[in-house]
This record gives sequence, structure tokens and C-alpha cells, in this order.
Amino acid sequence: MQTAQTLEQYKAELRDSLDNEFLRKTLDNFAVAYRTGRENAFKGIDLPGLIAEIAAAKDDSVARLDELYAEFKKNAEAIGIHVHMARTALEANEIIARIAEENNCKTIVKSKSMTAEETLLNHHLEDKGLHVTETDLGEWIIQLRHEGPSHMVMPAIHLSRYQVADLFSQVTKKDQDSDIQKLVKVARRELRVKYAEADMGISGGNFAIADSATIGLVTNEGNARLVTTLPRVHVALLGLDKLTPTLHDALRVLRALPRNATGQQITSYATWITGPNECGACEDNKKIMHVVFLDNGRRALAKDPDFKQVLRCVRCGACANVCPVYRMVGGHKYGHIYIGAIGLILTYFFHGREKAKHLVQNCINCQSCKAICPAGIDLPRLIKEIHARIQNEEGHPMQGQLLGMMMKNRKLFHGLLRAANWAQRPFVGKGQTGGRFIRHLPMVFAKDQDFRALPAVAETPFRDLWEKGLKQEINPKPGQHASMKVALFSGCVHDFVYPEQFVAAAKAMAGKNAQIDYPMQQSCCGLPLQMMGELPAARDVALQNLLAMDPAEYDYIVTSCASCASHLKHNYPKLLEDRPDLAFKATQFAEKVIDFSSFVHDVLKVAPKTGAGKKVTYHAPCHLCRGLDVREAPRALISASGNEYVPCAEEEVCCGFGGTYGMKFAEISNTLLQKKLDNIVASGASVIVTDCPGCVMQIRGGMEKRQGQKVEVKHIAELLG
Ligand code: SF4
Ligand code: SF4
Repeated sequence: MQTAQTLEQYKAELRDSLDNEFLRKTLDNFAVAYRTGRENAFKGIDLPGLIAEIAAAKDDSVARLDELYAEFKKNAEAIGIHVHMARTALEANEIIARIAEENNCKTIVKSKSMTAEETLLNHHLEDKGLHVTETDLGEWIIQLRHEGPSHMVMPAIHLSRYQVADLFSQVTKKDQDSDIQKLVKVARRELRVKYAEADMGISGGNFAIADSATIGLVTNEGNARLVTTLPRVHVALLGLDKLTPTLHDALRVLRALPRNATGQQITSYATWITGPNECGACEDNKKIMHVVFLDNGRRALAKDPDFKQVLRCVRCGACANVCPVYRMVGGHKYGHIYIGAIGLILTYFFHGREKAKHLVQNCINCQSCKAICPAGIDLPRLIKEIHARIQNEEGHPMQGQLLGMMMKNRKLFHGLLRAANWAQRPFVGKGQTGGRFIRHLPMVFAKDQDFRALPAVAETPFRDLWEKGLKQEINPKPGQHASMKVALFSGCVHDFVYPEQFVAAAKAMAGKNAQIDYPMQQSCCGLPLQMMGELPAARDVALQNLLAMDPAEYDYIVTSCASCASHLKHNYPKLLEDRPDLAFKATQFAEKVIDFSSFVHDVLKVAPKTGAGKKVTYHAPCHLCRGLDVREAPRALISASGNEYVPCAEEEVCCGFGGTYGMKFAEISNTLLQKKLDNIVASGASVIVTDCPGCVMQIRGGMEKRQGQKVEVKHIAELLG
């Protein structure tokens, strides 16, 4: 749970997790195994089609929560189920405590329920003198340790079997072996007796099916069946978002849920409960059954045009499984109650701004969660929106405001970059991995940024090179027919830090009779502003770029920065949606944006054999492979260039750059970078190429700092141009 009062305290807590070798190794192993398992589990299934169907069906349910609730209640009451609506977490807890009191229940067994975690139900019931036992193995372990889950599906993933053996030894007052099977047996033995003694069973529920008043439970341990059948009273606590019209809708989700959660084709137990079953412990031989629906902000969320999509979540936990930050710090630092990307969002709505405000800043925007979500939720964008909302509510930090003011004024921004070139001169030197670096960082940066060498600002920005002759060099000669018209979008890193990479990109496009323009009024794409929650400034620069290059004039808008490409394509229409007069232009602009590799490989069909037979490996930028779903073109270009492409482990895992993220969360950025560098070196390549100047900056800067083997780091355009 989040207890940090300040961002600095939160960062100190993150440091503790980063130092936990066991946690990192466990989550690493799980992340790698999960990817393979999931891929195999979805073989033969039209996954994009299934995601679209789930998203549409969930949207339909979310739009009529009240109607589905009324239908469920009517059908449930007809078969003897008592149905309650709790507006708040406290109300849900009070309803359940009252049910216990009215039915003279003293002991309770409980199966896994994130909704009960949300309401802190156990604490409430224990305060009332009730004895509650969790029966899911992971949940029981964390209950005994008095801590919350560190994963929504595997709540005790942060613990080793040795820690569990010690815990079980204390509980049973007997030395326990750390063999997992033996530990499971201990839990089974200890818990069996609890089921038999319990007066009440509390479960969650994955589905509440309105047309039959059926509760659906998806589990792997079978404990939920005992919880819902043995005690004389059963209470199911569900979020309102679990309402679904029919069994058919639930079964559709069930095709994705276990596959996406743990890579299982099918869950071990799918339990469907329609009405109270027979129960020998009850006077009339019929179990007493209650269903409590929790609102806790869900109805309001359902009315929010942008955020209602978070109610599609089926709680598979996959957005944590693939998150590089979760993998580094674990769930206790990457969520409050709900964990992972969805946790960063739900914390704000269910638990309030105070619990959410540090968490939401800890997202590197790698897009992994969006790519894995079976409900198609645009998690990274919504996380940034929450950050912006919180800043609107609490006030924007000075740093963000200054950056916004500076970037909105293109001439000022570019003037400062030109001035930086002069100011840095005494400190600049040539590196061994390519490019020029600032040799001695000013102390204000040096403390936590020393893990990578920082590049120097270029002597001459791209825009000056363009005007001084590059424009004539790469364009068709007068009288030649141009087959297409292209606008180049450099982004500020290629313009002012690595202009040679963008020159190489422009040259790789030359000779194809394409009329190539570089509209001089273009500015930063605005992604750093969006990352910092400075949305009005991000909108402003988006507008400037839209006005700088009229998409109607061009066939393509080409950029060799993967982050710019993804931001221009996906975020511009959204950022400018409050300008209906520009909606068409913004969409047209986005449609014409294409990344460098795809343009050169798929459109121009260029394959320049410039290579010298070197072993070249690849780092796939997050915003290219997931943001734009471009995977083949860059690898094909490496091979076509006359070099040998050698794969690198985890090519698609984030390098830790993340723009301003690397400045704010330097230690996580560094940990991700070191892992990336280890993989690159292990590939045996002498050159690493990538499609994003930000990734070049991170990887080259890290490689430059490494002792021993240095691998040359290039933008892919430099391999071709
Ligand atoms: S975008 Fe990446 S870092 Fe952010 S929550 Fe999603 S997976 Fe984690
Ligand atoms: S947001 Fe998506 S990936 Fe994350 S838990 Fe929910 S359904 Fe699963």
C-alpha cells in the first residue's frame, strides 16, 4: 500500500525494492516465462478480434450498469438471493458485517477477491470481532504476514519458498520443509479445518450474469468452491463492473482471461452459482446467499467519456506482468491495492489523489500494458491523463511550467539550444561508441544521472544544414518528375543533438524522385510535455506542428524518431479533439505519419548495400514495436544493408530512456539500461542499431560509461545513409 508522503519518500521506497535481488530475479524469470506461455496459449485465436469483441461488449455493459443491476436483482430475488448495492467501500463492509451479525456468524472463510481488498473488508470484520481466514494460498500467506497483495493474480509472488517455510513454521509451531509441494500440503491441512468450522463464506466474483442471476468464479485452487458451498451463509462481493448481460458474454471473457493472466489455456476451476444451494447446516436445508455490489465511484466512472474504458478491466493482471517498472520494483511499490498499469489509474478513482499522485508519475510510457490488455484499454495515455488531472487539482510543479513555457515558444526554445552549444564547448569530447559527449556534468545533474554520458548539443542543427545545401542535394533536380511529396519531421533530438542521423535518414530517401520538404516552423512533438502532465502546452505545440505542415500538401510525413512518430500518430487527434475545426486536419496529419524504417523499406523499397559484413543487433523502441506495430522493416533493413543481423535477448523490452522519466526515476532508468546493455554485449554484435534518437542517447550514453567492451551504437539511418 502507498504510504509515502512525498515523491522523495516514494523514490526511497523504490530504492529498497531495487536492492531486493530475489524480487528482481523472481519477477524477471516470471516475465520471460509469461511471454512464452501467453503466446502459446493464444495460438490459433484471432486475438485482435477477441480484444475488439471484449471491448465492445464491456462498453455496452458499462453503458447500462443500472439496467443490468436491476435485471440481476429481479432475477436473483426470484430464486432467493438477497441483493445489496453499496455506494462506498465502508457501506459494503457494513452490509457484510450486518449479514454476519444477523446470522450469528463468528468465523468466516474467504476466497480471493480484489474487491474485498479494495474495501479493506478483512480489517473491518476483524474490528467487529469476527475471525476471517483467507483460503487462497497466496492470500493466506500475505494475510499471515499482515501485508497486501503484490500482484492481482499471484498475491505472494514477491516471496521465496524459504520465506514461506519460515512463516509456516511459525504458524504451525513446527519446522517446515521449503519444498513447494510440502508447503501446499501444510496449507491444505491447516485450511481444511477452517472450512468445516466456518459460519460464513465470502467470495468475490468474475462475473455477475444479469439474465440468470449467476455468479461466475474463475480460480486455480478450488478453494472458492469450498468457500461458497460448505458454510451456511455465502456472501459474494463484486464491483458493479462485473455485471454482464448473458453467459455468452462471460464465456467470451473466459477465452481470454486465463490465457492472458497466466498463459493457461483454461483455468482449473470455473464455478457458476445460480441461487442458494442445499446446505445441511441450515434450518430449511437451504444456504443463505447474499450478493453485494460495490459502486465506490464506478457509476461516475461509467459516465466519464474518456475513463469509462477502465471498467472494461477483467483483472487478469497482465499489465503488471509485462510492465518493466513493475518487474523492477514489484507490486507493493507499483500500486496501492490494485497493481500494475490499471492500478495506477484505479488508485486515483477508488482510493483518492493522495494515494495515486506519486504512483502515476512512475510510468515510462513503454506501451507494453496497452499491447497486452485483453480489453483494449489505452492504459499509458490514461495514466498520463491522471497525472495531468492531479497537477490541475494540486498545481503544476515549477519545472513543468517552465518547460511548457519554453517549448510553446519555438524561437525561445531553439535559441536556448543554440546557446547551449556555446556554453558546453569547454566540456565536450568525442566518445568511443559514436558521437560527442559532455565530459563533466554540472553537479546539479551529476548525482543521479552519472550512469550515462550525456550527448553534446550539435554544432549545427539539422535545420541549418538543410538550408545550407542539404535540401538541394537530396531533392530531384529541376525538370525531374517527383513521384511523391514528403515532409520530414525531425523532432528536437534529431534537429539539435544528432543532426547527422537525420541527414543520413534524408540521404537514404534521396534518388527516389520524392520531393522532400523540411517545414521550418516545426517544433518539438510535445511528448515530453505530455509525459510531465503539461497537457495545455502539449496541445499548443501539437497545434504549431499541424500549422507548420499542412497534411493535405503531403503524401507522407516521415520521422526517424519512433517516439515522435507514435505521439504524432496516436495522440495528436486526441490532443486536438476540442478543436472541431481542426479535427479533420489532425486525423489527416496522423494518417500520413510514417516511421523512417517503414517508409524506406515498405514505401521506397530501398535496400542500400552499405554494410561491411558486421554483426549488427537491434533494439526495438517501445513506440515503434508496440506504438506503431512495426517489427519487420528495421530488421529487414539491417540484413539488406550487407550486415549480419544477430538477435538480442529481449529486443522489445524498454531501454529505460522514457524522456523526462529517466531524469525523475534515474535508478529505475539505470537498472533497465544495464539489463539492456548486458543483453547487447551478450549478443556478440559489434554494432547495435535502433530507430529512435532517444534510445540512441540512452544506450550510447550507458555504453560509453561501461568499462571493457564497447559496442558501437547507431541510428538505423546511419547504417543506410
Ligand atoms: S506504459 Fe509501460 S511503464 Fe507505463 S504502466 Fe504501462 S507497462 Fe508500465
Ligand atoms: S487493465 Fe487490462 S491487462 Fe490490466 S488487469 Fe485489466 S484487463 Fe488485465
